[in-house]
Amino acid sequence: MDVYKLLPKTNCKKCGHTCLAFATKLILREVKLEDCPLLFEDKYAENLAKLRELLEPVMDTYETGLKLDESKCTGCGNCVVVCPANVSVDPSVARGMGANSEEVVFRVEDGVAKIVNLERCRRFPPDRINCRMCEQYCYSKAIEIY
Ligand code: SF4
Ligand code: SF4
Ligand code: SF4
Repeated sequence: MDVYKLLPKTNCKKCGHTCLAFATKLILREVKLEDCPLLFEDKYAENLAKLRELLEPVMDTYETGLKLDESKCTGCGNCVVVCPANVSVDPSVARGMGANSEEVVFRVEDGVAKIVNLERCRRFPPDRINCRMCEQYCYSKAIEIY
């Protein structure tokens, strides 16, 4: 509702949806603010700025919602091992071996997790599978999914 309140609320459907449906789709990352042309009119400038602020975590991580804060990472390797996408590309990962392929989502390098290929994440469009395994097993909260 916080997002909806900041939309023009005309239900003009220029975005292909009602304003309420558009608000929901924004949060689900199925549309972008740019899909509502009215928002870019001068009279909605303040609303647009507030929406950008409100939706920053969502828009920053538009494809997957996944954010890795390397400063919190302890290099435990849990994300590398539990990620089903990682294991499907490089089965040796499940046995605790290092991920050598460039097709894995995560790899630990110099004691810190790095994102190698985010497109392999099961949350990536068009599949957008609601996987949260890496977040669940990252006990230092270095991974957050919005
Ligand atoms: S284009 Fe904007 S104002 Fe029009 S229905 Fe969609 S969200 Fe609402
Ligand atoms: S959300 Fe799932 S598929 Fe994506 S990186 Fe995390 S564990 Fe892997
Ligand atoms: S699970 Fe978390 S702390 Fe462990 S390597 Fe991955 S990001 Fe770093």
